[in-house]
Amino acid sequence: MKTWPRKGRDARTSARAPSARGYPTTLTRTAHSAGVVLGGAGSAPGRVAPIPAHASRVRAADLVIVMPVIFPDVRARSKPVQSEPMTDTIRAAVMSAPRAPIEIRAFPAPRPAPGGAVLQTLLSEVCGTDVHLHHGRLAGVPYPIIPGHVSCGRVLETGGALNDVEGQPITTGQLVTFYDVFGTCGACWHCLVARAATRCPHRRVYGITTSASEGVLGGWAERIEIRPGVRLLPLPDGVDPLAFMGGGCGLGTGLHAVERAQVALGDTVVVQGSGPVGLNAAVFAAMSGAASVLMIGAPAPRLAVAREMGVDETLDLADTPAPADRIAWVRARTAGRGADAVIEATGNPQAVPEGLEMLRDAGRYVIVGQYTDAGDATINPHRHLNRRHATVLGCWGYEFTHFHRAIALLRRHDRRLGWRRLVSREYPLDRAGEALAAMAALEVVKAVIRP
Ligand SMILES: [Zn+2]
Ligand SMILES: [Zn+2]
Repeated sequence: MKTWPRKGRDARTSARAPSARGYPTTLTRTAHSAGVVLGGAGSAPGRVAPIPAHASRVRAADLVIVMPVIFPDVRARSKPVQSEPMTDTIRAAVMSAPRAPIEIRAFPAPRPAPGGAVLQTLLSEVCGTDVHLHHGRLAGVPYPIIPGHVSCGRVLETGGALNDVEGQPITTGQLVTFYDVFGTCGACWHCLVARAATRCPHRRVYGITTSASEGVLGGWAERIEIRPGVRLLPLPDGVDPLAFMGGGCGLGTGLHAVERAQVALGDTVVVQGSGPVGLNAAVFAAMSGAASVLMIGAPAPRLAVAREMGVDETLDLADTPAPADRIAWVRARTAGRGADAVIEATGNPQAVPEGLEMLRDAGRYVIVGQYTDAGDATINPHRHLNRRHATVLGCWGYEFTHFHRAIALLRRHDRRLGWRRLVSREYPLDRAGEALAAMAALEVVKAVIRP
Protein backbone atom coordinates (compact mmCIF):
# COMPACT_ATOMS: atom_id res chain seq x y z
CA MET A 1 0.00 0.00 0.00
CA LYS A 2 1.76 3.09 -1.24
CA THR A 3 -0.96 5.68 -0.94
CA TRP A 4 -4.60 5.63 -0.01
CA PRO A 5 -5.79 6.53 -3.46
CA ARG A 6 -4.04 3.75 -5.35
CA LYS A 7 -5.99 0.94 -3.81
CA GLY A 8 -8.81 2.94 -2.36
CA ARG A 9 -11.89 3.06 -4.49
CA ASP A 10 -13.29 6.22 -3.03
CA ALA A 11 -13.46 8.86 -5.69
CA ARG A 12 -13.31 11.58 -3.07
CA THR A 13 -9.78 10.74 -2.10
CA SER A 14 -8.30 8.99 -5.05
CA ALA A 15 -5.55 11.08 -6.59
CA ARG A 16 -5.56 8.67 -9.47
CA ALA A 17 -9.23 8.03 -9.61
CA PRO A 18 -10.44 6.24 -12.68
CA SER A 19 -11.30 9.63 -14.16
CA ALA A 20 -14.18 9.34 -16.54
CA ARG A 21 -13.53 5.68 -17.15
CA GLY A 22 -16.77 3.80 -17.04
CA TYR A 23 -18.80 6.83 -18.00
CA PRO A 24 -20.45 6.50 -21.37
CA THR A 25 -19.44 9.12 -23.84
CA THR A 26 -23.10 9.73 -24.57
CA LEU A 27 -23.80 11.15 -21.15
CA THR A 28 -26.30 13.74 -22.21
CA ARG A 29 -27.31 12.34 -25.51
CA THR A 30 -30.58 11.09 -24.12
CA ALA A 31 -31.38 14.43 -22.63
CA HIS A 32 -33.89 15.50 -25.19
CA SER A 33 -35.55 12.22 -25.82
CA ALA A 34 -36.52 11.21 -22.31
CA GLY A 35 -39.97 10.55 -21.00
CA VAL A 36 -42.53 11.66 -18.49
CA VAL A 37 -42.97 10.03 -15.13
CA LEU A 38 -46.58 10.49 -14.30
CA GLY A 39 -46.52 10.38 -10.53
CA GLY A 40 -46.28 7.55 -8.09
CA ALA A 41 -47.35 6.34 -4.70
CA GLY A 42 -46.10 9.55 -3.15
CA SER A 43 -47.99 11.89 -5.44
CA ALA A 44 -49.26 15.00 -3.82
CA PRO A 45 -52.96 15.72 -3.70
CA GLY A 46 -54.08 17.50 -6.77
CA ARG A 47 -51.55 15.83 -8.99
CA VAL A 48 -53.24 14.56 -12.10
CA ALA A 49 -51.81 11.21 -12.97
CA PRO A 50 -53.35 8.00 -14.25
CA ILE A 51 -52.43 5.92 -11.26
CA PRO A 52 -54.59 2.93 -10.49
CA ALA A 53 -56.14 2.52 -7.05
CA HIS A 54 -53.74 -0.30 -6.31
CA ALA A 55 -50.76 1.92 -7.11
CA SER A 56 -49.19 1.35 -3.75
CA ARG A 57 -48.81 -2.31 -4.58
CA VAL A 58 -47.38 -1.67 -8.01
CA ARG A 59 -43.63 -1.77 -8.36
CA ALA A 60 -42.02 1.59 -8.98
CA ALA A 61 -40.99 0.61 -12.47
CA ASP A 62 -44.61 -0.02 -13.43
CA LEU A 63 -45.48 3.58 -12.75
CA VAL A 64 -43.01 5.01 -15.23
CA ILE A 65 -44.73 5.90 -18.45
CA VAL A 66 -42.39 7.17 -21.11
CA MET A 67 -43.72 9.70 -23.58
CA PRO A 68 -41.83 11.83 -26.08
CA VAL A 69 -41.24 15.35 -24.87
CA ILE A 70 -39.55 18.15 -26.75
CA PHE A 71 -37.59 20.08 -24.16
CA PRO A 72 -36.09 22.90 -26.22
CA ASP A 73 -39.55 24.43 -26.58
CA VAL A 74 -39.93 24.62 -22.82
CA ARG A 75 -36.51 26.06 -22.23
CA ALA A 76 -36.82 28.67 -24.95
CA ARG A 77 -39.85 30.23 -23.31
CA SER A 78 -39.21 33.09 -20.96
CA LYS A 79 -42.60 32.67 -19.31
CA PRO A 80 -44.76 29.60 -18.90
CA VAL A 81 -47.81 29.53 -21.11
CA GLN A 82 -50.71 28.27 -19.05
CA SER A 83 -52.75 26.98 -21.96
CA GLU A 84 -50.14 24.42 -22.98
CA PRO A 85 -49.73 21.18 -21.09
CA MET A 86 -45.92 21.43 -20.96
CA THR A 87 -46.18 24.13 -18.33
CA ASP A 88 -47.41 21.46 -15.94
CA THR A 89 -44.13 19.65 -16.08
CA ILE A 90 -40.65 20.30 -14.82
CA ARG A 91 -37.35 18.76 -15.79
CA ALA A 92 -35.11 16.66 -13.59
CA ALA A 93 -31.90 14.69 -14.07
CA VAL A 94 -32.45 11.00 -13.40
CA MET A 95 -29.97 8.29 -12.51
CA SER A 96 -31.92 5.31 -13.78
CA ALA A 97 -29.44 2.62 -12.68
CA PRO A 98 -25.82 2.33 -11.63
CA ARG A 99 -23.45 3.31 -14.46
CA ALA A 100 -26.35 4.32 -16.72
CA PRO A 101 -26.09 7.71 -18.43
CA ILE A 102 -27.84 10.52 -16.61
CA GLU A 103 -31.13 11.27 -18.36
CA ILE A 104 -33.28 14.36 -18.36
CA ARG A 105 -36.91 13.48 -17.81
CA ALA A 106 -40.06 15.52 -17.40
CA PHE A 107 -42.16 15.18 -14.26
CA PRO A 108 -45.50 16.62 -13.29
CA ALA A 109 -44.84 19.92 -11.54
CA PRO A 110 -44.97 19.09 -7.83
CA ARG A 111 -47.70 20.59 -5.67
CA PRO A 112 -47.36 20.92 -1.91
CA ALA A 113 -49.19 18.54 0.39
CA PRO A 114 -50.61 20.11 3.55
CA GLY A 115 -47.59 20.92 5.70
CA GLY A 116 -45.27 20.62 2.73
CA ALA A 117 -43.87 23.04 0.19
CA VAL A 118 -42.40 23.32 -3.28
CA LEU A 119 -39.08 25.01 -3.97
CA GLN A 120 -37.82 26.56 -7.16
CA THR A 121 -34.36 25.05 -7.19
CA LEU A 122 -31.49 27.49 -7.17
CA LEU A 123 -28.53 25.14 -6.66
CA SER A 124 -27.97 21.49 -5.82
CA GLU A 125 -24.70 19.81 -5.03
CA VAL A 126 -22.78 17.08 -6.78
CA CYS A 127 -20.62 15.29 -4.25
CA GLY A 128 -18.78 12.05 -3.65
CA THR A 129 -22.00 10.41 -2.53
CA ASP A 130 -23.45 10.94 -6.00
CA VAL A 131 -20.41 9.23 -7.48
CA HIS A 132 -20.95 6.32 -5.10
CA LEU A 133 -24.61 6.21 -6.17
CA HIS A 134 -23.61 6.13 -9.81
CA HIS A 135 -21.14 3.35 -9.14
CA GLY A 136 -23.85 1.36 -7.37
CA ARG A 137 -21.88 1.19 -4.16
CA LEU A 138 -24.64 2.11 -1.72
CA ALA A 139 -27.12 -0.52 -0.61
CA GLY A 140 -30.87 -0.01 -0.76
CA VAL A 141 -30.96 2.76 -3.35
CA PRO A 142 -34.35 2.68 -5.15
CA TYR A 143 -33.22 3.49 -8.70
CA PRO A 144 -34.32 5.39 -10.70
CA ILE A 145 -33.52 8.35 -8.47
CA ILE A 146 -33.24 12.11 -8.84
CA PRO A 147 -29.89 12.80 -7.14
CA GLY A 148 -29.04 15.93 -5.20
CA HIS A 149 -29.38 15.75 -1.42
CA VAL A 150 -28.24 19.18 -0.25
CA SER A 151 -29.88 21.96 -2.24
CA CYS A 152 -31.22 25.46 -1.87
CA GLY A 153 -33.98 27.35 -3.57
CA ARG A 154 -36.84 29.78 -3.24
CA VAL A 155 -40.17 28.85 -1.73
CA LEU A 156 -42.64 28.71 -4.57
CA GLU A 157 -45.67 27.46 -2.69
CA THR A 158 -46.51 26.06 0.72
CA GLY A 159 -49.27 23.72 1.81
CA GLY A 160 -50.59 26.03 4.54
CA ALA A 161 -48.67 28.01 7.14
CA LEU A 162 -45.15 26.76 7.84
CA ASN A 163 -42.65 27.88 10.45
CA ASP A 164 -38.94 27.41 10.74
CA VAL A 165 -37.34 25.92 13.86
CA GLU A 166 -37.23 29.38 15.50
CA GLY A 167 -40.99 29.71 15.05
CA GLN A 168 -40.69 32.28 12.27
CA PRO A 169 -43.05 31.91 9.29
CA ILE A 170 -41.71 30.51 6.04
CA THR A 171 -42.76 32.87 3.26
CA THR A 172 -43.13 32.53 -0.47
CA GLY A 173 -40.02 33.72 -2.28
CA GLN A 174 -37.79 33.09 0.73
CA LEU A 175 -34.35 31.59 0.09
CA VAL A 176 -34.17 28.33 2.00
CA THR A 177 -32.43 25.03 2.26
CA PHE A 178 -33.76 21.95 4.01
CA TYR A 179 -32.45 19.15 6.15
CA ASP A 180 -32.24 16.38 3.57
CA VAL A 181 -33.06 13.63 6.05
CA PHE A 182 -36.70 12.85 6.75
CA GLY A 183 -38.80 10.03 8.15
CA THR A 184 -36.69 9.70 11.31
CA CYS A 185 -39.42 8.40 13.55
CA GLY A 186 -38.59 9.58 17.05
CA ALA A 187 -40.38 6.48 18.30
CA CYS A 188 -38.10 3.51 17.71
CA TRP A 189 -35.43 1.96 19.91
CA HIS A 190 -32.63 3.79 18.07
CA CYS A 191 -34.36 7.15 18.37
CA LEU A 192 -35.60 6.83 21.93
CA VAL A 193 -33.30 4.49 23.82
CA ALA A 194 -29.96 4.76 22.04
CA ARG A 195 -30.61 8.40 21.08
CA ALA A 196 -28.85 7.71 17.79
CA ALA A 197 -31.27 9.27 15.32
CA THR A 198 -28.95 8.85 12.34
CA ARG A 199 -29.34 5.09 12.80
CA CYS A 200 -33.16 5.17 12.84
CA PRO A 201 -34.27 2.44 10.41
CA HIS A 202 -37.05 4.71 9.08
CA ARG A 203 -34.63 7.50 8.17
CA ARG A 204 -34.66 8.52 4.51
CA VAL A 205 -32.59 10.98 2.53
CA TYR A 206 -33.48 13.18 -0.41
CA GLY A 207 -31.65 12.22 -3.57
CA ILE A 208 -30.34 8.95 -2.09
CA THR A 209 -33.11 6.73 -0.73
CA THR A 210 -36.00 8.37 -2.59
CA SER A 211 -37.20 6.91 -5.86
CA ALA A 212 -38.07 9.09 -8.84
CA SER A 213 -41.40 7.24 -8.88
CA GLU A 214 -42.34 8.89 -5.58
CA GLY A 215 -42.06 12.47 -6.78
CA VAL A 216 -39.42 15.12 -7.24
CA LEU A 217 -37.41 14.30 -4.13
CA GLY A 218 -33.94 15.28 -5.28
CA GLY A 219 -32.22 18.53 -6.08
CA TRP A 220 -31.14 17.89 -9.66
CA ALA A 221 -34.51 19.23 -10.76
CA GLU A 222 -36.10 22.54 -11.57
CA ARG A 223 -38.34 22.21 -8.53
CA ILE A 224 -38.17 20.16 -5.36
CA GLU A 225 -41.10 18.74 -3.46
CA ILE A 226 -40.74 19.33 0.28
CA ARG A 227 -42.62 16.59 2.06
CA PRO A 228 -44.61 17.39 5.22
CA GLY A 229 -42.25 17.11 8.17
CA VAL A 230 -39.12 17.96 6.17
CA ARG A 231 -37.40 20.81 7.99
CA LEU A 232 -36.99 23.95 5.91
CA LEU A 233 -34.18 26.19 7.05
CA PRO A 234 -33.97 29.77 5.76
CA LEU A 235 -30.52 30.75 4.55
CA PRO A 236 -29.59 33.70 6.77
CA ASP A 237 -29.23 37.15 5.21
CA GLY A 238 -25.78 37.62 3.85
CA VAL A 239 -25.12 33.94 3.24
CA ASP A 240 -24.02 33.48 -0.34
CA PRO A 241 -25.91 30.48 -1.79
CA LEU A 242 -22.74 29.37 -3.58
CA ALA A 243 -20.79 29.50 -0.32
CA PHE A 244 -23.50 27.41 1.31
CA MET A 245 -23.30 24.89 -1.50
CA GLY A 246 -19.51 24.86 -1.21
CA GLY A 247 -20.02 23.57 2.31
CA GLY A 248 -22.96 21.39 1.24
CA CYS A 249 -23.35 18.10 3.03
CA GLY A 250 -19.78 18.49 4.28
CA LEU A 251 -20.99 21.18 6.67
CA GLY A 252 -23.10 18.91 8.85
CA THR A 253 -20.85 15.89 8.41
CA GLY A 254 -17.69 17.83 9.22
CA LEU A 255 -19.23 19.47 12.28
CA HIS A 256 -20.55 16.14 13.52
CA ALA A 257 -17.09 14.54 13.16
CA VAL A 258 -15.41 17.37 15.08
CA GLU A 259 -18.05 17.10 17.79
CA ARG A 260 -17.35 13.37 18.07
CA ALA A 261 -13.61 14.06 18.24
CA GLN A 262 -14.14 16.41 21.19
CA VAL A 263 -11.56 18.81 19.83
CA ALA A 264 -10.34 20.98 22.70
CA LEU A 265 -8.53 24.29 22.96
CA GLY A 266 -4.89 23.87 22.04
CA ASP A 267 -5.24 20.45 20.40
CA THR A 268 -3.28 19.29 17.41
CA VAL A 269 -5.73 17.74 14.94
CA VAL A 270 -4.86 15.65 11.90
CA VAL A 271 -7.43 15.32 9.13
CA GLN A 272 -6.87 12.44 6.72
CA GLY A 273 -8.50 13.27 3.40
CA SER A 274 -8.98 16.56 1.58
CA GLY A 275 -12.44 16.12 0.09
CA PRO A 276 -15.36 18.31 1.16
CA VAL A 277 -15.87 16.39 4.42
CA GLY A 278 -12.18 16.62 5.33
CA LEU A 279 -12.03 20.31 4.43
CA ASN A 280 -15.09 21.15 6.53
CA ALA A 281 -13.85 19.04 9.43
CA ALA A 282 -10.53 20.90 9.33
CA VAL A 283 -12.29 24.26 9.35
CA PHE A 284 -14.49 23.30 12.29
CA ALA A 285 -11.53 21.80 14.18
CA ALA A 286 -9.76 25.14 13.90
CA MET A 287 -12.89 26.93 15.09
CA SER A 288 -13.07 24.56 18.05
CA GLY A 289 -9.76 25.89 19.24
CA ALA A 290 -7.20 23.53 17.74
CA ALA A 291 -3.76 25.09 17.97
CA SER A 292 -2.69 23.24 14.86
CA VAL A 293 -4.62 21.53 12.06
CA LEU A 294 -2.68 19.24 9.75
CA MET A 295 -4.12 17.66 6.61
CA ILE A 296 -2.95 14.72 4.54
CA GLY A 297 -4.62 14.31 1.17
CA ALA A 298 -4.60 14.91 -2.57
CA PRO A 299 -4.68 16.29 -5.19
CA ALA A 300 -2.66 19.48 -4.76
CA PRO A 301 -5.46 21.95 -5.65
CA ARG A 302 -7.57 20.61 -2.77
CA LEU A 303 -4.67 21.02 -0.39
CA ALA A 304 -4.22 24.59 -1.61
CA VAL A 305 -7.88 25.25 -0.78
CA ALA A 306 -7.28 23.73 2.65
CA ARG A 307 -4.42 26.10 3.38
CA GLU A 308 -6.48 29.05 2.16
CA MET A 309 -9.17 28.02 4.63
CA GLY A 310 -6.82 27.90 7.59
CA VAL A 311 -5.19 24.47 7.60
CA ASP A 312 -1.70 25.03 8.99
CA GLU A 313 0.20 22.42 7.02
CA THR A 314 -0.67 19.91 4.34
CA LEU A 315 1.03 16.78 3.08
CA ASP A 316 0.40 15.62 -0.48
CA LEU A 317 -0.06 11.87 -0.84
CA ALA A 318 1.55 12.05 -4.26
CA ASP A 319 4.75 13.41 -2.73
CA THR A 320 4.77 11.01 0.20
CA PRO A 321 3.72 7.56 -0.99
CA ALA A 322 5.01 5.62 2.03
CA PRO A 323 2.67 5.50 5.06
CA ALA A 324 5.69 5.41 7.39
CA ASP A 325 6.81 8.79 6.05
CA ARG A 326 3.37 10.28 6.59
CA ILE A 327 3.27 8.99 10.15
CA ALA A 328 6.75 10.43 10.72
CA TRP A 329 5.55 13.78 9.33
CA VAL A 330 2.82 13.93 11.98
CA ARG A 331 5.11 12.79 14.79
CA ALA A 332 7.71 15.39 13.82
CA ARG A 333 5.05 18.05 14.43
CA THR A 334 3.86 16.68 17.76
CA ALA A 335 7.13 16.20 19.64
CA GLY A 336 7.01 12.53 18.68
CA ARG A 337 3.74 11.94 20.56
CA GLY A 338 1.14 11.96 17.79
CA ALA A 339 -1.96 14.14 17.43
CA ASP A 340 -4.59 14.69 20.11
CA ALA A 341 -7.33 13.90 17.61
CA VAL A 342 -7.30 12.37 14.13
CA ILE A 343 -10.31 12.54 11.80
CA GLU A 344 -10.43 10.02 8.97
CA ALA A 345 -12.26 11.35 5.88
CA THR A 346 -10.65 9.37 3.08
CA GLY A 347 -12.91 6.48 2.12
CA ASN A 348 -9.90 4.17 2.06
CA PRO A 349 -9.84 1.46 4.76
CA GLN A 350 -6.02 1.49 4.82
CA ALA A 351 -6.13 5.04 6.14
CA VAL A 352 -7.46 3.73 9.46
CA PRO A 353 -4.43 1.77 10.77
CA GLU A 354 -2.23 4.52 9.41
CA GLY A 355 -4.23 7.19 11.19
CA LEU A 356 -4.13 5.24 14.45
CA GLU A 357 -0.33 5.35 14.23
CA MET A 358 -0.61 9.15 14.02
CA LEU A 359 -2.63 9.33 17.25
CA ARG A 360 -1.11 10.13 20.62
CA ASP A 361 -1.70 7.91 23.63
CA ALA A 362 -5.23 8.48 24.96
CA GLY A 363 -6.16 10.38 21.80
CA ARG A 364 -9.46 10.35 19.90
CA TYR A 365 -9.86 8.82 16.46
CA VAL A 366 -13.04 9.47 14.43
CA ILE A 367 -13.93 7.52 11.28
CA VAL A 368 -16.31 9.48 9.06
CA GLY A 369 -14.94 8.70 5.60
CA GLN A 370 -15.97 5.06 5.27
CA TYR A 371 -19.38 5.87 3.85
CA THR A 372 -19.38 2.80 1.61
CA ASP A 373 -17.94 -0.63 2.23
CA ALA A 374 -14.55 -0.34 0.55
CA GLY A 375 -13.14 -3.41 2.23
CA ASP A 376 -11.26 -4.43 5.35
CA ALA A 377 -8.18 -3.13 7.08
CA THR A 378 -5.95 -4.81 9.61
CA ILE A 379 -5.25 -3.19 12.94
CA ASN A 380 -3.13 -4.32 15.83
CA PRO A 381 -5.44 -4.28 18.84
CA HIS A 382 -2.56 -4.12 21.29
CA ARG A 383 -0.51 -1.36 19.67
CA HIS A 384 -3.27 0.67 18.04
CA LEU A 385 -5.96 0.53 20.69
CA ASN A 386 -5.30 -1.09 24.04
CA ARG A 387 -1.82 0.13 24.88
CA ARG A 388 -2.53 3.46 23.17
CA HIS A 389 -5.61 3.86 25.38
CA ALA A 390 -7.32 5.17 22.27
CA THR A 391 -10.91 6.29 21.87
CA VAL A 392 -12.16 5.26 18.42
CA LEU A 393 -15.52 6.50 17.20
CA GLY A 394 -17.59 6.05 14.07
CA CYS A 395 -19.69 8.92 12.76
CA TRP A 396 -22.73 8.31 10.58
CA GLY A 397 -24.52 11.18 8.82
CA TYR A 398 -25.60 14.24 10.72
CA GLU A 399 -28.62 15.48 12.57
CA PHE A 400 -30.56 18.69 12.12
CA THR A 401 -28.59 20.25 14.98
CA HIS A 402 -25.30 19.81 13.12
CA PHE A 403 -26.71 21.26 9.91
CA HIS A 404 -28.27 24.22 11.70
CA ARG A 405 -25.18 25.06 13.74
CA ALA A 406 -22.88 24.64 10.74
CA ILE A 407 -24.94 27.17 8.78
CA ALA A 408 -24.73 29.60 11.71
CA LEU A 409 -20.93 29.22 11.62
CA LEU A 410 -20.90 29.68 7.86
CA ARG A 411 -22.75 32.95 8.33
CA ARG A 412 -20.26 34.09 10.96
CA HIS A 413 -17.04 33.05 9.23
CA ASP A 414 -17.65 32.91 5.50
CA ARG A 415 -16.29 36.38 4.85
CA ARG A 416 -12.96 35.23 6.31
CA LEU A 417 -12.89 31.67 4.99
CA GLY A 418 -14.76 31.80 1.69
CA TRP A 419 -16.54 28.46 1.36
CA ARG A 420 -17.43 29.51 -2.16
CA ARG A 421 -13.96 28.47 -3.30
CA LEU A 422 -14.99 24.83 -2.80
CA VAL A 423 -17.38 25.13 -5.74
CA SER A 424 -15.11 24.53 -8.68
CA ARG A 425 -17.74 24.53 -11.41
CA GLU A 426 -21.42 25.09 -12.08
CA TYR A 427 -23.36 22.95 -14.54
CA PRO A 428 -26.82 23.33 -16.05
CA LEU A 429 -29.23 20.48 -15.49
CA ASP A 430 -28.68 18.81 -18.84
CA ARG A 431 -24.95 18.58 -18.15
CA ALA A 432 -25.40 16.80 -14.83
CA GLY A 433 -23.65 13.75 -16.26
CA GLU A 434 -20.56 15.85 -16.97
CA ALA A 435 -20.65 17.23 -13.45
CA LEU A 436 -20.71 13.70 -12.09
CA ALA A 437 -17.79 12.65 -14.28
CA ALA A 438 -15.77 15.68 -13.17
CA MET A 439 -16.47 14.82 -9.56
CA ALA A 440 -15.44 11.20 -10.09
CA ALA A 441 -12.20 12.31 -11.74
CA LEU A 442 -11.44 14.73 -8.89
CA GLU A 443 -11.33 17.60 -11.36
CA VAL A 444 -13.48 19.57 -8.94
CA VAL A 445 -13.67 19.90 -5.16
CA LYS A 446 -17.39 20.24 -5.52
CA ALA A 447 -19.66 20.82 -8.48
CA VAL A 448 -23.12 22.33 -8.37
CA ILE A 449 -26.13 21.98 -10.62
CA ARG A 450 -27.94 25.21 -11.43
CA PRO A 451 -31.14 23.96 -13.08
ZN1 LIG B 1 -36.58 5.98 14.79
ZN1 LIG C 1 -23.25 15.39 -0.48
